Amino acid sequence: SSRYLNDFEELQPLGHGGFGHVVLCKNKLDGRQYAVKKIRLKDKTLPVNDRILREVATLSRLQHQHVVRYYQAWFETGVVGIFGDSTWGSATATSSTFSHKGASSAGVGQENKLESTYLYIQMEFCPRTLRQVFESYNHFDKDQAWHLCRQIVEGLAHIHAQGIIHRDLTPNNIFFDARNDIKIGDFGLAKFLELEQLDHDAALPTDTAGVSMDGTGQVGTYFYTAPEIEQGWPKIDEKADMYSLGIVFFEVWHPFGTAMERHVILSDLKLKGELPPSWVAQFPEQASLLRRLMSPSPSDRPSATDLLKHAFPPRMESELLDNMLRTM
Ligand code: ATP
Ligand code: MG
Ligand code: MG
Repeated sequence: SSRYLNDFEELQPLGHGGFGHVVLCKNKLDGRQYAVKKIRLKDKTLPVNDRILREVATLSRLQHQHVVRYYQAWFETGVVGIFGDSTWGSATATSSTFSHKGASSAGVGQENKLESTYLYIQMEFCPRTLRQVFESYNHFDKDQAWHLCRQIVEGLAHIHAQGIIHRDLTPNNIFFDARNDIKIGDFGLAKFLELEQLDHDAALPTDTAGVSMDGTGQVGTYFYTAPEIEQGWPKIDEKADMYSLGIVFFEVWHPFGTAMERHVILSDLKLKGELPPSWVAQFPEQASLLRRLMSPSPSDRPSATDLLKHAFPPRMESELLDNMLRTM
């Protein structure tokens, strides 16, 4: 039987990307809500390639206050669930489990070769993205802006300490949890899995609800991508994320009035390295930090731990108190 259907009640689709669907689910046992990501794999036979197991094991190592929490992952074969599938209804499914303690995948007999194998990932549900908050066009005050940036950088420092490069750090992949704390998510699993293992569904439209368009009508990851990734350097390191962080940092400190204004200013920044002079005059420290984060040479960019140690103002008393209360 299907573990997914036994343990979860599907509430609503949250969206889909190139490689899978994310569904808001209620766990029948604990009554809590989770985001469950389903990824259809091309390889229809179990056990699945070691590399996938290693990568999910890597995800499971990420345990941090500012990283989307991962609970468990498992495989199922068969048509499962009603949301996010071209085929509706349910069928018998065989499942193969591994917990975050380590990977063990039992070879499961395959009855119907036409059925797909899915990788399910149960994650913490995050109700909002930073993109949505930017688009509410509220300005952050100085304390709020530093507070947000610090939470993002703390999450990123943890990710990098685990030897992981996010590679897709954008406001769409930075979430807020139910308490309005930052959670970095969506580790572009596609980027650490072998691409040919994933069944890319070309029939899906490329936009989803909640995904923002830039001024040209394209989904915007363009502004955030480090030059060495665009140029296809053979070796990418964690500094690629620091470039992306720079652009996110800029958006926190420079709210845009309209999507068109955002497009124009981010284009000038990306293509000409130009910042609005009035903004530079108002935020000289932030401007010089941004320039360092956007250095063409990755090694010239500060690391996440450098930022926490040297570039950010000390935490406010109230934040320290918050954190103490949180751990009690
Ligand atoms: P791609 O990964 O192909 O670039 P994507 O990031 O839009 O595209 P997914 O990662 O599959 O696609 O995510 C699909 C949708 O689910 C997105 O709208 C995303 O905001 C939402 N989502 C992902 N993880 C969570 C989560 N933990 N809580 C709430 N929503 C989530
Ligand atoms: Mg995403
Ligand atoms: Mg994604």
